[in-house]
Amino acid sequence: MADYNKPLPMPTPETQEFWDGLKREELRIQQCQDCNQHYFYPRSFCPHCHSTNVEWTTVSGKGTVETFVINHRAMGGWAEEVPYVVAVVSLEEGPRMLTNIINIEPDPEHVQVDMPVEIVYDAVTDEITLAKFQPVTG
Ligand SMILES: [Zn+2]
Repeated sequence: MADYNKPLPMPTPETQEFWDGLKREELRIQQCQDCNQHYFYPRSFCPHCHSTNVEWTTVSGKGTVETFVINHRAMGGWAEEVPYVVAVVSLEEGPRMLTNIINIEPDPEHVQVDMPVEIVYDAVTDEITLAKFQPVTG
């Protein structure tokens, strides 16, 4: 963990609950109490109806790959890990997250649109756990 050398996210007051949840291995996103839609990234109002009546909720961590790119070029700390997959995952609850897909067998080239995926909690430092996704097995 100590030698993690990629850029790290900086929690803000609006995103702190999201990062705290990941540390506990929970995916916490917000849900509007007026229109019932879930949304991500964290913010103080609903992007669907602009209500400020929103609450944090724990969601399943399951979803599907919506789009992806396979990056073959080493950049900074990623040098040891090419190729790697950057993807937009649609969560079961609706919101989309920009993330990485890992543990793709036999190799990253086998990532597919609509592939079912589930969250993996990657504790990269004492402070930050990243949400990544892997293919659902079994
Ligand atoms: Zn709403």
